[in-house]
Amino acid sequence: MDPRNFPTSLPEFQRVFPDDASCAKYLETLRWPNGFTCPKCGVVGEPYRFATRKSTVLRCRVCSENVSLTAGTVMQKTHTPLSTWFWGAYLVTTQTPGMSALQFQRQLGLGRYETAFQILHKLRAGMVRPDRDTIGGDHPVEVDECYVGGKTRGEGKGVHHQACVVGAVEVRTRKDADERAAKWKDSHKEGVPAKKLVYAGRIRLQVVSGIPSKLEMLANPLTTGRGAEQLCGFVQENVTAGSVVRTDGWIGYKGLPDLGYPHESLAMNGDPDKCESHLPMIHLVFSNLKTWLLGTHHGVSQQHLQSYLDEYTFRFNRRFYPMTAFHSVLGLAVKTVPPTYAQLYSGEWTRAA
Ligand SMILES: [Zn+2]
Repeated sequence: MDPRNFPTSLPEFQRVFPDDASCAKYLETLRWPNGFTCPKCGVVGEPYRFATRKSTVLRCRVCSENVSLTAGTVMQKTHTPLSTWFWGAYLVTTQTPGMSALQFQRQLGLGRYETAFQILHKLRAGMVRPDRDTIGGDHPVEVDECYVGGKTRGEGKGVHHQACVVGAVEVRTRKDADERAAKWKDSHKEGVPAKKLVYAGRIRLQVVSGIPSKLEMLANPLTTGRGAEQLCGFVQENVTAGSVVRTDGWIGYKGLPDLGYPHESLAMNGDPDKCESHLPMIHLVFSNLKTWLLGTHHGVSQQHLQSYLDEYTFRFNRRFYPMTAFHSVLGLAVKTVPPTYAQLYSGEWTRAA
């Protein structure tokens, strides 16, 4: 399979990866696009293949070095068949709402819950690596906070702590926005609804601990400083300097212009129509996030909330690039071509970006 073409449906996926051998072949092609190259002696040529169906080891015909196809990936030293891993990676990266270990076990037909849990855990580990670059730039960014109802173990019944989550989303303009606007104006008197011409780009989500709620801050103005520090700090860490930032009229965001962000703030005064027109995307992100946390995982304890936010962010930001997501969770570094022994010592090899 051409690594650039990712299967877009389950039947297609099944056709491309019908068994363990096809998965092994894929790993081999990714690693050696121009044919097997022995990492020890550097010889290029057909390796010896072991007859056992489950084998993920190739042997160099010259120096007899055994080379594992799964070394350096999440599948390293696994007893689970490659096809199960591939299916699992496909499911976690393409199923929009994500999945619980129990759903996962059923989908993959695994006998033991523990196996499902461990595979899922390892695949998720490839999702929690935070994206380090900032968002925004040419695209305006909506920023807001929401409260997520978390469960805390050991506390009395009905005692639920609310965790504050700050979020940012890029507002991108569709490439055909002008065209669509012109077309729609003919049939709609009042023109095109603005949100049809834009779509959500990348997002960032972060738990902020110790932030007072807006009610608390209103009641005690001394706590306002803490909120401002955290909210502006979040923007500085995640949004490219100079990007237009849209927020509600909350005082915690007042410092943004001084930090170099053109600031578009609008007092909402609890008016849902104003929220809908000024910050439509971040509210949609929050609403889908809450549904996911409640529906899939039946609520998440505060201690694990950030890793769930990271997973949500990972999937959201790669929803147009399923191939990248698939490779990431399996730990397949496709862009890095491992050097041969000879290349390493001749200085020929440079690490791919
Ligand atoms: Zn060799």
